[in-house]
Amino acid sequence: MDSRNAAATPGAPPVESRNELIARRLGVGSLVLAAAIASNALLDLAIRPGGLLPVAWIYAADFALVLLVQFAVRHPRIRAYMVPTAALAVMLWNALFCSYAALAPPEIHAVVAPSIVITTAAALLFPWGLRLQSIVAVACVLEYAGAFALSGRYADPGTLYALVSLVGAAAASCVGAYLIERHARLVDQQTSSLREMNRLMRETGVKKDEFLASVSHELRTPVNVVLGYVDLLLDHSFGPLEPAQRDVLHRIAKNAGNLSILINDLIDLSRIEAGRLKVEIGTVELAPLFTDLTGVMEILLAGHDVQFAASIAPGCVRVSADPERLTQIVSNLLVNAVKFTERGSITLSAEPRPDGSVALAVTDTGIGIPPAAQQAIFEPFRQVHDRSRRVPGAGIGLSISSRLAHLMGGSLTVESASGHGSRFTLVVPAPSDPVRAPGVAPDALRKVS
Ligand code: ADP
Repeated sequence: MDSRNAAATPGAPPVESRNELIARRLGVGSLVLAAAIASNALLDLAIRPGGLLPVAWIYAADFALVLLVQFAVRHPRIRAYMVPTAALAVMLWNALFCSYAALAPPEIHAVVAPSIVITTAAALLFPWGLRLQSIVAVACVLEYAGAFALSGRYADPGTLYALVSLVGAAAASCVGAYLIERHARLVDQQTSSLREMNRLMRETGVKKDEFLASVSHELRTPVNVVLGYVDLLLDHSFGPLEPAQRDVLHRIAKNAGNLSILINDLIDLSRIEAGRLKVEIGTVELAPLFTDLTGVMEILLAGHDVQFAASIAPGCVRVSADPERLTQIVSNLLVNAVKFTERGSITLSAEPRPDGSVALAVTDTGIGIPPAAQQAIFEPFRQVHDRSRRVPGAGIGLSISSRLAHLMGGSLTVESASGHGSRFTLVVPAPSDPVRAPGVAPDALRKVS
């Protein structure tokens, strides 16, 4: 693929970086060539009867080219023309070696062969595309054939063999360039179609988030209106109610309440996915939070065969978190524990961690979560257990909780085994100046049954 191709094809490496690559290879390649030329010269000196003087100009030109290339690869302006410069350098070197080989006596001719092979092989290493590769390859062959034709020497088997080998190498390099170019085209096509798919998916994602946000928003208002009227009715604002009517209204309130929670969760999820949800970090006292949550658990566990206990270990009094979001996460964990625990116990605990953070853990003796699903439950709309269990929920509470935990600089993890309960641990930072105090045993630590 030549530089124009690279510039025109979406996804192709920029010409700049291709030139960098060529510059690096050319820099190293020219040093290797300099070593080969130097060894040629030494051998030449040992073998040639008349000394090096008659061919000194060829060696001088060889080394001058090495210096020129070393200068070119270090010069940012010339780097922009690195592809044609590289091709020209290879062709010139080859021409020099060929004419030298043609002029030299047969025994010295053999000495030059490695340099010709190195220049031709170097031509294979450059990603300069089929067109330029063909020009270099044909030029190398013609230079060799032309030099010998001009020398007027008898074409001995060695010379012919070298020419055939050169033609073979040139053909192989062209086939290689063709295959590389075809492969690069294929990769470019796949890259651009993947880019397009990625763009479409991102667009669809944004549309989905916008749809979710606007639908959820539109749903929230009527649900709140329904809840408001139900409250008014239950408060006898429109006259006294029969017990049966109150019962129906309580059911409406409960279901509308669930719907309202779901809508709020959907709004949170769409805000988190759009990166628009902000948390306001403050200092949260754990004792009042635990007291409130214990009150909620009393209501939730009424009539259940499940014990509840809350405890705050010595050394953690407060945490650094968004108060509302912290309550939301722990409530979600407790509600899940209630949903998936038929008997036994649920505990809420706070413990300091060696790194100074605080671990809030909700542990239950419920149905547990199989190891294979423990990652998935933190993804939106993933529910592990059979829906026929008829537990309410849309499978988004944990995904929101885990993202909120991250937004607050913490984490949410689970340890569980099927049939042996679960332990969800929310780690949140402690305030930077932690006031260490003895363990608190507020009302929150009461046992609820
Ligand atoms: P929801 O509870 O609304 O379905 P969540 O995101 O809170 O959504 O939970 C996802 C799933 O993780 C639940 O449907 C349930 O299968 C599993 N899960 C969550 N908490 C528990 C738990 N304490 N015990 C057993 N399974 C749980």
